[in-house]
Amino acid sequence: MNPQFETMPVSIFEEMSLAATRHGAVNLGQGFPDFGWPDPLIDEAARLLREGSNQYPPSRGLPVLREALADFYAERQSLALAPEQFVVTSGATEAIAAVLLAAIEPGDGAIVIAPAYDAYAPLIRRAGGDVQEVVLRPPSWRIDKALLAGAVTAATRLLVVNNPHNPTGRVLDAAELQAVVEIAREHDLLVVSDEVWEEVLAPGARFTSLAFLAPERTIKIGSAGKIFSLTGWKVGWAAAPEGLSGIIARAHQYLTFATPPHLQAAVAEGLRHPEWLHAPREGFARARQRLADGLESNGFALLPSEGTYFQCIDLAASGISLDDRAFADLAVVEAGVAVIPLSPFTEGVPERGLVRLCFAKHDATIDAGIAALARARDLARAR
Ligand code: GLN
Repeated sequence: MNPQFETMPVSIFEEMSLAATRHGAVNLGQGFPDFGWPDPLIDEAARLLREGSNQYPPSRGLPVLREALADFYAERQSLALAPEQFVVTSGATEAIAAVLLAAIEPGDGAIVIAPAYDAYAPLIRRAGGDVQEVVLRPPSWRIDKALLAGAVTAATRLLVVNNPHNPTGRVLDAAELQAVVEIAREHDLLVVSDEVWEEVLAPGARFTSLAFLAPERTIKIGSAGKIFSLTGWKVGWAAAPEGLSGIIARAHQYLTFATPPHLQAAVAEGLRHPEWLHAPREGFARARQRLADGLESNGFALLPSEGTYFQCIDLAASGISLDDRAFADLAVVEAGVAVIPLSPFTEGVPERGLVRLCFAKHDATIDAGIAALARARDLARAR
């Protein structure tokens, strides 16, 4: 096997979902909602499967979707993006891959902010780049300008930002966004801004796109899977400054070439109906509260979560002395609940006392998960 494959381990999401299936555990690990989606989107996709084209769409994406994206972001985030600036991809992960393949030359440095989504580093390396990791610390997980500045070298070409942030659930504040923009401008860096969680915000949380603050250098990544709770559809996109979007489109040609046309057209229809997002938003808010209340009344200590459908638990403060990995293994094998340990998201010196839960679930799933976590904690204490 090519030794470079050592840098592409089995993802922690795949590992924990397979373990959940094997042990019949409740799956609060890999992030996907189990409480439905806007039904008209499904009807539209089904209709198009029968009546529409089942052949290759344009590689860059259906014009109807790129127009709907431009209008959606103009309306919701005041972004001045033209339809031509979008490249539709098979999921946000493919968008990230296409962007990194387009932007990185061998030897370029790419800053990632850890804990970092697990796809960034392996993809940067396969594109020939060097990962320059900046490690944030809980409970604040704040990005600080000096910390970022310390990671920049003459080789640095781009900075990957994820906001709202997976796995911590943080939404960057104005000062942190400003720090990112200043560092990027001072060193002429591209900003790859993974904003797939932009529509999954806790009540009261405020999100600002880096594409609004630094449109000249930001490549924004988005996901219909996250916006419409259809993670299996794998419809995502990148929106880039003019000259760059054509290069990303070329990289995308040689990855998946195109994305299923019916799904693209149905997503375009969904983007024209932001009111379809109200019910899921209320569902997320209720589920967020139910999980937090249930865990807290069982003595678990939680970190703040303002965005994403994730909630982190502080193990030590919850009276658990196992590290994240040992606790996650015990929880899925012996107590019947899958969670995601946070240490795989940092390559340097990771925090080992936090696990992430996905709360985008039916009440019964959440309640079963809480009961199983309490069992896992009792088992951990008995060791
Ligand atoms: N985004 C999902 C999560 O954070 C995982 C997606 C995947 O497994 N590729 O849980």
